[in-house]
Amino acid sequence: MLIDSHCHINSPELRQDSRSVITRAREAGVMKMILVGCDYEDSCEAAALAEDFSQFGLYASVGIHPHESSRYECIPEEFTKLVHDDRVVAVGEIGLDYHYDNSPRDIQRKLFDLQLDFAERVNMPVILHIREAMSEALEILSNYKGLSLLFHCYSGGLEYLDEVMNFKSMLAFGGALTWNGKGSEKLREVFKEIPADRILLETDSPYMSPTPFRGKINEPAYIKQVYDKAAELRNMKLDELASQIETNAKNFFHWE
Ligand SMILES: [Zn+2]
Ligand SMILES: [Zn+2]
Repeated sequence: MLIDSHCHINSPELRQDSRSVITRAREAGVMKMILVGCDYEDSCEAAALAEDFSQFGLYASVGIHPHESSRYECIPEEFTKLVHDDRVVAVGEIGLDYHYDNSPRDIQRKLFDLQLDFAERVNMPVILHIREAMSEALEILSNYKGLSLLFHCYSGGLEYLDEVMNFKSMLAFGGALTWNGKGSEKLREVFKEIPADRILLETDSPYMSPTPFRGKINEPAYIKQVYDKAAELRNMKLDELASQIETNAKNFFHWE
């Protein structure tokens, strides 16, 4: 069984075609997918899709992405209702993105803090999006030591690895593992250092397509390329890696 721990089937690129995207994923052996919400409407759509396609192993997470933070003064009331939905398994993606700075940093921090409080209150794991803001994010997270954290698209390098491992954390890797170039070479080095029981894999589709689909619209079926590369890098059989990740995902998302 393959698991895509982070995808956006509820995105403009994929939503039109969601039924065939999900069918292709199943044909590729993807038995569980997490649809990640980026704002209120997007989170509602993720939860609804996960409900509609529950027999295909769809789950959802709900949250306000740092890019969208400036549109919110506080967390929408309705989030409390959404997280009680059977198919909603996490709060996210939330965090800080100082690469794009699409929302002012003080507002990103405020929404991040509010949503961490919220996750604590509703007792749910958190999917983190942190880009070029690692030290500040870790400082904020140190006030939330009880939370289970998934560092999606981990980009903290070896530099922050020890600190990240000190949290109740998982690290997720995607298409970038398969790319050429120095950045990906470094990422592969980091990937090899992480204990097997702390790894998840993701597509982040429609973005971040793995080789040989780079430049095309990514979709959950392509997680197979990420698994193949990951198994090769860790000298594991695909089956062995897949069953380790299945265990990790279950430990993190607590699904049946
Ligand atoms: Zn992200
Ligand atoms: Zn994402």
